[in-house]
Amino acid sequence: MTTSTDAEVTIVGGGFGGLSAACHLADAGVDVTIVEKNEAVGGRASRLERDGFVFDMGPSWYLMPEVFERFFEHFGHEPEDYYELERLDPHYRIFFKDSEAGSASERSSGQALQAESDVVDISANRNENRELFESYEDGAGEAFDAYLTTSQRHYEMSMENFVYEYRPSWKDWIDPSLMKTGTLGLKLFQSMQGHVEDYFENEKLQQIVQYTLVFLGGSPSNTPAIYNMMSHADFNLGVYYPQPVDGGPGGIGAVVDAIVDLAEELGVTIETDTEVTEITRRKDGFLVETADGDQRRPDVVVANADYAHAEQDLMPAHERQYDAGYWDDRTYAPSAFLLYLGVEGEVPELEHHSLVFPTDWGEYFDDIFEDPAWPEDPSYYLCVPSETDDAVAPEGHTNLFALVPIATELDDPQETRDRYRDKIIADIAENTGVELEDRIVVEEQFSISEFADRYNATKGTAMGLAHTLRQTAMLRPPIESSAVEDLYFTGGYSTPGVGVPMCLISGEHAAEAVLENSR
Ligand SMILES: Cc1cc2nc3c(=O)[nH]c(=O)nc-3n(C[C@H](O)[C@H](O)[C@H](O)COP(=O)(O)OP(=O)(O)OC[C@H]3O[C@@H](n4cnc5c(N)ncnc54)[C@H](O)[C@@H]3O)c2cc1C
Repeated sequence: MTTSTDAEVTIVGGGFGGLSAACHLADAGVDVTIVEKNEAVGGRASRLERDGFVFDMGPSWYLMPEVFERFFEHFGHEPEDYYELERLDPHYRIFFKDSEAGSASERSSGQALQAESDVVDISANRNENRELFESYEDGAGEAFDAYLTTSQRHYEMSMENFVYEYRPSWKDWIDPSLMKTGTLGLKLFQSMQGHVEDYFENEKLQQIVQYTLVFLGGSPSNTPAIYNMMSHADFNLGVYYPQPVDGGPGGIGAVVDAIVDLAEELGVTIETDTEVTEITRRKDGFLVETADGDQRRPDVVVANADYAHAEQDLMPAHERQYDAGYWDDRTYAPSAFLLYLGVEGEVPELEHHSLVFPTDWGEYFDDIFEDPAWPEDPSYYLCVPSETDDAVAPEGHTNLFALVPIATELDDPQETRDRYRDKIIADIAENTGVELEDRIVVEEQFSISEFADRYNATKGTAMGLAHTLRQTAMLRPPIESSAVEDLYFTGGYSTPGVGVPMCLISGEHAAEAVLENSR
């Protein structure tokens, strides 16, 4: 290997994976530069500011706080040096469009709702959630406890053995500590759908424990049951909102700001508005060319840009590990149709996080994975951070974004988007009781084409590779290139996978691999 700790490292892309790798490398004394195509780092966690509204454009759920604690701790800090966390209660509200089996006033802790749907609040209090489950199905309270016990066991075992631990090949899995984990093997191969059916008959209860799959970009039938660990993250560890200690808007943007502060403290150079157009291996190090014609000669490259884009678009064919057929054949996480809305007045019907579930859950997932179409009966997520944070909307206004997961394969011309936008606004009114149409003062759309343009996202995916069985753990593309020396990858396409906490860990693994090879 040619690397050493006095090597120069260029990181292509400033998402969470790139930022994390940069901090870990700089902390070890390496000269690191992040080269980011957009106007700011953060990647999918970009911010949009319009007329006093501040929107998190991508991630908005702060989950698994221990991962962030561990990250900052590595550098002698704690999250509270940068932001305070508020635990949300309820964690979120669910509107089931299928209103059978309950009414809003029966199950919601909020005010009487005008919605036509069945409404439940998932509380920060586990006992209340147990009672909620029991109210849908006799014995489901006990089953809920049993489900969470399994989920916690899988979470702890997974984090220790293959999330914090990087196991890139089959031989890394022949490990006595893994053999001891008993049920792991079986649970890995069963689908989430099969797993939850073992616990709950009621479809709404199945959906409540399955919704966290959206964080993994999969469906109940294509995601392995080991990911029931996400329920531990949700029900037990909690859902939080970060607020910067020195004031200003909170949200995931505040976490990006914190890591940028840390990176600068550690000496990382960050260059924005600089798109990489070519990465080529040279006898010594790399040639990295940017759109402005500038040429750099780093010793090591860490690509945080979408993996397929980095290999297929930036590198010559003989330096790629995979051909176009490989990438065509992958299962991608959905794209998303997003509406960022500045709204006059309040929306008391909604919580900070609200989910609207379709009448036919199976058909909705078919529209995404089996037979791509704009969903007629969509499932979607509504985020209202101004419920918690005054700094994200002007006084007397609401900051609201709507996120509808959709298939990556769809055309999204303006006419289609406008029709769909009207449909979503009407669906929100019908199912949550919130009339938005005449109150919207700021409106921006973001869809498949923008994911492709803004982030160079393959097929316009919002999150990269879904966590299907054949795209889990060492079956995901590796952090260290097998085709080119001193080339590494980090972020949601690689291991451990998608989501902000996972990408932070991925950056740590990439930095460790660089440093390991330099010894
Ligand atoms: C709408 C949405 C909602 C989400 N919600 C959540 C959530 O609530 N909680 C959660 O934990 N996760 C959530 N996620 C997932 C999470 O945001 C991602 O998994 C994570 O942020 C991805 O980080 P990454 O390291 O893969 O880098 P990315 O964020 O993908 O960043 C890669 C960077 O590379 C840059 N780049 C690309 N090509 C080039 C080039 N040629 N030259 C230079 N730079 C380039 C891009 O501009 C980008 O900044 C959400 C994602 C989306 C899209």
